[in-house]
Amino acid sequence: MAEIVVVGAGLSGTLMAYELLPQLRKEDRLSVISQGTVYHFVPSNPWVAVGWRKREEIEIDLADVMKRKGVRLLTQGAKRVHPERNRVELGDGTSIDYDYLVVATGPELAFDEIPGLGPQGHTQSICHVDHAAHARDAFEQLAANPGPVVIGAVQGASCFGPAYEFLFILETELRRRKLRDRVPMTFVTSEPYIGHLGLDGVGDTKGLLESEMREKHIKWITNARIDKIGPGLMSVEEFSDDGTSRKAHELPFAYSMMLPAFRGVEAVRGIEKLTNPRGFVIVDKHQQNPAFPNVFAVGVCVAIAPVGATPVPVGVPKTGFMIESMVTATAMNIGALLRGKAPTAQPTWNATGRLRRFRRRLPRAAADSAAQRQLVLQGRMGAPRQGRLREILPAQDAARRERAVLRAFRSRQAEHRQAQGGPNRHMSGIVCTEANPTRRQEEGACHECR
Ligand SMILES: Cc1cc2nc3c(=O)[nH]c(=O)nc-3n(C[C@H](O)[C@H](O)[C@H](O)COP(=O)(O)OP(=O)(O)OC[C@H]3O[C@@H](n4cnc5c(N)ncnc54)[C@H](O)[C@@H]3O)c2cc1C
Repeated sequence: MAEIVVVGAGLSGTLMAYELLPQLRKEDRLSVISQGTVYHFVPSNPWVAVGWRKREEIEIDLADVMKRKGVRLLTQGAKRVHPERNRVELGDGTSIDYDYLVVATGPELAFDEIPGLGPQGHTQSICHVDHAAHARDAFEQLAANPGPVVIGAVQGASCFGPAYEFLFILETELRRRKLRDRVPMTFVTSEPYIGHLGLDGVGDTKGLLESEMREKHIKWITNARIDKIGPGLMSVEEFSDDGTSRKAHELPFAYSMMLPAFRGVEAVRGIEKLTNPRGFVIVDKHQQNPAFPNVFAVGVCVAIAPVGATPVPVGVPKTGFMIESMVTATAMNIGALLRGKAPTAQPTWNATGRLRRFRRRLPRAAADSAAQRQLVLQGRMGAPRQGRLREILPAQDAARRERAVLRAFRSRQAEHRQAQGGPNRHMSGIVCTEANPTRRQEEGACHECR
């Protein structure tokens, strides 16, 4: 019999438990250590912050779910992991020994690194549902007394997507309430350019996001380092691409939401060879810690190096795509180890990875179940069993939002292309009559077609 323990029951920890179950032998036992029994779906927090969702709508009681799955839920939280003793010390002073451990503790939010940052200071956050509920109250105060808004992500942040998402959500809600003209908006980010996203851009994210922001009269400051935040005033230093200071800004605000930098949680931070200096868990290509091979890690708690040097530090986002892929590989590797085989499954750390790329790395059975889940998320197939609908609905929500954003981007892109001369306009800048002979023009065929 083997004892498998997952620490953390957020997105990656709960997925981990679900994917581990089919990999276990009859005699093995799975325990999940959580902080309390309530799971909340983090990607829906931005909606809670503007009142598009109530917090109860994005929360699930894990005690019931895990019981039905036959998973032991320990709700007292992990105080400290002791990898050299294969033991996790729990919040109530008891402990649990493991044969295999999966760390899925997500991030600790480093608000303390900037004076005045965060819900205890002067800005809002959407990283936790409690913060989102607090941000909602602050938003209602803004609606009652409109003024400038500053949204963004601070130095060292890695989670840029939700900052942009929240920017556009807030803008939409302000327009719906007919308040937008009384609320000047500024996006402040440590990214070197708009749409960098910690990934040096994805396709034309720079062009698309800049275009949307211009269209919506949103100003921006990139390469920004936040020095301090006082009540209603943010001190920002803007850097040039060569790393020299360019301009100091004092930004007044009536409402601000700034995503903080992340670091590893206390239960694992500072454990030599397990975590890096920032407290993120070091893993190899099999999600396995090289020094403690029976310890795996998945999700935001995993150490991933930045994609390149930037004037102001930015981290790499760990998205749902990556997390799913990390979880599947980890489950398969633990399954292999339980059967005396070597771990071979590798995740893709591609933040926007497509299923096709993912499938290439997985055996057929696993890829099929991933493909099925993808179809359910895309709304092209019903959830396999009624009972699983509750698990799948919040994810469908996120997928629906993602599709709506993509649709809006695509239609803007099409408009833009049309304005530039239509689909047959080539890089040479002319409308090519070879490619579209019905639109004969004086220029003739361009050099790209000849
Ligand atoms: C606002 C926001 C929106 C996002 N939206 C998207 C999106 O739309 N699409 C996408 O792909 N990604 C999105 N992400 C990124 C990513 O998918 C989420 O951050 C996701 O929640 C990460 O999952 P996780 O399990 O690693 O961390 P978390 O969800 O934070 O879960 C970690 C869990 O570990 C628990 N924990 C921590 N310490 C301990 C301890 N000592 N003992 C026991 N338990 C502990 C915590 O209580 C928590 O429940 C978003 C992120 C944010 C912040």
